[in-house]
Amino acid sequence: MRRTAARLADGREIVYFDLDDTRPQRRLDDPRELGPISTASEIRYDALLDEWVAIASHRQGRTHLPPTDECPLCPSRDDRHTEVPADDYDVVVFENRFPSFATRLEGDTPGDGAQSPAGAATSPVAVQDEIFARGPGLGRCEVVCFTSDHDSPLRKLSPEHVRLVVEAWVDRTCELSKLPHVEQVFCFENRGEEIGVTLGHPHGQIYAYPFVTPRTRRMLDSARTHRERTWRNLFADLLAAEVADGSRIVAATEHWVAFVPAAARWPVEVHLYPRRQVPDLPALHDAERDDFARIYLDVLGAMDNLYGLPLPYISAWHQAPVRIDRDLAYLHLEVFSVKRAPNKLKYLAGSESGMGVFINDVTPEQAAAALRAAVKPA
Ligand SMILES: [Zn+2]
Repeated sequence: MRRTAARLADGREIVYFDLDDTRPQRRLDDPRELGPISTASEIRYDALLDEWVAIASHRQGRTHLPPTDECPLCPSRDDRHTEVPADDYDVVVFENRFPSFATRLEGDTPGDGAQSPAGAATSPVAVQDEIFARGPGLGRCEVVCFTSDHDSPLRKLSPEHVRLVVEAWVDRTCELSKLPHVEQVFCFENRGEEIGVTLGHPHGQIYAYPFVTPRTRRMLDSARTHRERTWRNLFADLLAAEVADGSRIVAATEHWVAFVPAAARWPVEVHLYPRRQVPDLPALHDAERDDFARIYLDVLGAMDNLYGLPLPYISAWHQAPVRIDRDLAYLHLEVFSVKRAPNKLKYLAGSESGMGVFINDVTPEQAAAALRAAVKPA
């Protein structure tokens, strides 16, 4: 693998990950003329729920489902410059031009990205006691293009190519964790218009948050309570219980287990755990990364086979926070779909959106059996 970092015309960082390290060197310039990025993102504290909300009104103008020949994630051609100033690429990552969280906020000058304008004084922690606490929406949002082929979803890529995507996630997790205002790095993919995807090109995103996210905080609190009671790790115990029970296992390999959780919220929901407890993606060793590529392709393939059509999904990596509770955390991936039948979507309606109580129309055991039957290893 070869890694090449460069800058886009407006100062955003772009990083190429190449499978073949003997290919010609990447060009480092971007011929476009781009105005400076305008981001006015802020975070506001919800005192009732003890959670932060990001307000990013500048995102309203972002590109929405452009035709294929205007795709900003495809490689550049002679007459058309895209976000990727290269005629081809394997995997490429760059800073989002319409970020929910930004390294630089309005009025700030482009720099090394490590300094915040108001940083220390308005860090979320410092103002958490106030009713209307708010802070700058500092952090970073990146786009990960899985392939230069506009029509090849992730699950059609080779295991070697998916492994390269893993390397990109590892690299970005390491780099973003070094930013002083970043508390958690979240790698994810939204796929399908039903999920609200605004670009058809196969891609994922990475959010580097200036706080530990509410779901992670809750999971780690549960893990802490469990450890105080048992001296064991909650995630590891949960994985062991799923393996022992077996009824919800979808696929298993030497280093990974994929299962439908006992209390699945979504009609299609699969969690993938490495058998060894590690805090985050960079902590996976080579064999675990290779093995992940294979089982992930099997799981995504099974999801597409389920109804015989590409399933819209959200794929979400749960990594340890950058600074706290790393010993309690357990890296895992949660993949889920809103599709409960070939032509029926599950909506987050009254109970889910109003009260946070999910009603799942499919038993997790039925879902697991159907997915198990749909796994066709490559
Ligand atoms: Zn494209």
